[in-house]
Amino acid sequence: METIKIAHLYPDLLNLYGDRGNLICLQKRLNWYGFACHIIPVELGEDIDFSTLDMVFMGGGSDREQNLVYRDLFRQADALWVEIEEGMPLLAICGSYQLLGRYYESIDGKMMYGLSFFDFYTEGEEKRLIGNIILETEVTGEKKTVVGFENHGGRTYFNDDTLKPFGKVLRGYGNNGQDKTEGISYKNLIGTYLHGPLLPKNPAIADFFIQAILKRKGLELKGELDDRIENFAHEQVKRMLLGT
Ligand code: GLN
Repeated sequence: METIKIAHLYPDLLNLYGDRGNLICLQKRLNWYGFACHIIPVELGEDIDFSTLDMVFMGGGSDREQNLVYRDLFRQADALWVEIEEGMPLLAICGSYQLLGRYYESIDGKMMYGLSFFDFYTEGEEKRLIGNIILETEVTGEKKTVVGFENHGGRTYFNDDTLKPFGKVLRGYGNNGQDKTEGISYKNLIGTYLHGPLLPKNPAIADFFIQAILKRKGLELKGELDDRIENFAHEQVKRMLLGT
C-alpha cells in the first residue's frame, strides 16, 4: 500500500481551535481511498527535508508562538518554496497563513517578518474578526462554497493584485473585513483564516489536496466516498449564514 507523508509543522505551537482535525480528515479520507497516511510532527529546531514530503500542514497560533515559528522556518524557506513551486500541497491556517507574506505587525507594534513568498502584509487591530464565514472558491476548478469559522486580529492586504485569494467572502470578514477576499491560493497551496473543521466540513477542499498529492506521485484517485454527513454539515452552516 502506498504511504502518503504529511508533515505537521510545530504541532505544539500551531494548533488553535482544533486545526489538527484537518489532518485527521486527510488521513481518514486517504485510508478510505486505499492509501496509508503517515503524519510527521516537526518540532522547533528540526531540519526538514521537504523533498521527501507529500504535503505540509500548519495550523494557527497566537502572537507569541508565531514569533518563535517565524524565526525557525525562515532558515528553511528556500527549500520549502522549491517544493511549493513544484506543486506540493500546503495548507496554512491563520497565523501560519500570515507567515507566508511579508510581515505581521501585532497590535502592540511587534514586527514579525514572514517568508515573503507572496507580496501581502498583515496588521493587527484591537477588534478581532470573529465568527462563522462562508466563501465561494474555484480552487477545485468549479464554483464551490466553503464554510468555516474565523478568529483573528490581523488584517491582511495584498500589495500585488495578481495574487489570487482562496475565495470571495459571501458572509463574514476574510482577509481584512473590507475587500471580500479571503486567504490565498497558489498552485496547490491554500492559506486561509478558516480555523477548525475546514476540511471535514468542506470535503471538496480535502479532495483538492488529495488529488494534488496523488497526481504528484503519479497515482490515481479511484472511487467516491459517501459524503452525506459532511455535506449535511456543510449545508446546515450554509443555510444558517445565507438563509437559503
Ligand atoms: N495572531 C494572529 C491574529 O490574531 C493569528 C491568530 C490565529 O492564528 N488565530 O491575527
